[in-house]
Amino acid sequence: MAKRTMVTGCGGFLGSHLVDELLQSGREVIGIDNFSSGQKENISEYTDHNNFKLLNRNVRLPDSLPTVDEIYHLASQASPADFTEYPVEIALVNTQGTRNMLDHALACDAKMVFASTSEVYGDPEVHPQTESYNGNVNIRGVRGCYDESKRFGETLTEAYYRKHNVDVRTVRIFNTYGPKMRPDDGRVVPTFIDQALSGNDLTVYGDGSQTRSFCYVDDLIHGLTQVMEQSELDHRVYNLGNENEITIKTLAKKILDIVNTNSSIVYKPLPEDDPERRKPNITRIQKELGWEPNISLENGLKTTIDSYK
Ligand code: UDP
Repeated sequence: MAKRTMVTGCGGFLGSHLVDELLQSGREVIGIDNFSSGQKENISEYTDHNNFKLLNRNVRLPDSLPTVDEIYHLASQASPADFTEYPVEIALVNTQGTRNMLDHALACDAKMVFASTSEVYGDPEVHPQTESYNGNVNIRGVRGCYDESKRFGETLTEAYYRKHNVDVRTVRIFNTYGPKMRPDDGRVVPTFIDQALSGNDLTVYGDGSQTRSFCYVDDLIHGLTQVMEQSELDHRVYNLGNENEITIKTLAKKILDIVNTNSSIVYKPLPEDDPERRKPNITRIQKELGWEPNISLENGLKTTIDSYK
């Protein structure tokens, strides 16, 4: 019998790519989204699929859910642009929502993968970041609603493992990009691509010397499913991302080159608590699961830009 898999946040950028991968692997997929940041268009091609069922629900609210074998808990607004507008919703989806999903995993005896984030490392004093680094988060800052709630979400996963033996694994997802990110999402890759394609100048925050390490979505999704599929992994945490670190200014120049436009770069103030450097150390997942990303930034950006045209 086909495995039944639940994906919370199925209308989001990562969720919709994951649904695609799971349906292709023959799974029956139950997608949950309240479309607070996810988009119906992202999953419109699956709504008539025999193995896909969509539930329009808020995972924060207790509700009866269908029995499943696996749960990917991805639901949360995740763009820094949303942190000022939806701080309460974000703080609660990652805490109350995570608790509800852990309760459901316990009730169904399902395996669960919790999507945590590189943001748990805050503005890191350790570089690159290994899973054992405890982070440097400003809990009262504007990003705290996301960073600290994901941290507490991780605490809950450990508590449910210790107390109830729930088989929950955690991934700390670093910056990811690819088709299906909303052009107005606020995050840097879709923003720069949208600006370049519309002939507007690219808005680099600060002096653009801050770094990030960008992973193409297909690589990321393979990492997620590998973490779920391994047996005997319960309550492990893995960094998931690409180690290729780049400054935001260089990223802007790369996108300008690929799009071949007359747009230039304009500089805007750096947002509060914007991390200066971010790069995952992925040794743990490479050694234990043999996963590593293999799509170059150049190729990933080209595919993403084509999808936006
Ligand atoms: N950024 C930028 N211009 C933009 C959007 C973002 O320079 O229009 C910068 C942002 O300040 C940060 C980096 O790009 O240093 C990555 O931002 P993003 O919001 O994509 O993700 P973050 O890593 O901050 O969560």
